[in-house]
Amino acid sequence: MRVLVVEDTTALAAQLRAALEQADFAVDLAPDGEEASFLGETEPYDAVVLDLGLPKLDGLSVLRRWRSAGRTMPVLVLTARGGWAEKVEGLNAGADDYLAKPFAMAELIARVKALIRRAHGHARPEIACGPLSIDTVLKQVTLNGAPVRLTTLEFNLLAYLAHRIGQPVSKTELTEHLYAQDFDRDSNTLEVIVGRLRRKLGDGLIETIRGQGYRLAGAAHG
Ligand code: CA
Repeated sequence: MRVLVVEDTTALAAQLRAALEQADFAVDLAPDGEEASFLGETEPYDAVVLDLGLPKLDGLSVLRRWRSAGRTMPVLVLTARGGWAEKVEGLNAGADDYLAKPFAMAELIARVKALIRRAHGHARPEIACGPLSIDTVLKQVTLNGAPVRLTTLEFNLLAYLAHRIGQPVSKTELTEHLYAQDFDRDSNTLEVIVGRLRRKLGDGLIETIRGQGYRLAGAAHG
């Protein structure tokens, strides 16, 4: 899953990036409102963490631009402590959640994950697919009840397909959601990762849909 962090305070931006990367997100940073506005309108993020006080263009204006351009990715707004008016304004501008500074990184990560799950229609962190069960919070996968060990990229690819269970997901979309802009992806191409997943999970679960990409088979295959 790929997240945009919009934060002009360099130290906080670095902390946010480190914490999100630690949680296996691909992370892009935008240090001001203009760049945020551009990236959010052109790149397909799974979620955004948006500070409101920004140079060039304030966070609320950025958010309104995205929403009026039809961008629907979940947005978590960072507000000043006790700034209830900011929270109300943020929610009215199209924010999905907010967090007051200072906050615990663990809470931010949990909220971002919950926003992404809900955006895909999953209220609970576990996604079941026939013999396969994927816990998106604990990052655990079981096949017929037995744990399966996956690398980070393997898990992320499987989890992305699981969020769209039963639907084909194009290679372009997977690439855009699994890797940050600056990631060196040569030895971790999608084909290689899918091949490893099939060896670990069996051939039937991840289908290749000709001309459309990959699909995690739906419940009918369980
Ligand atoms: Ca700020």
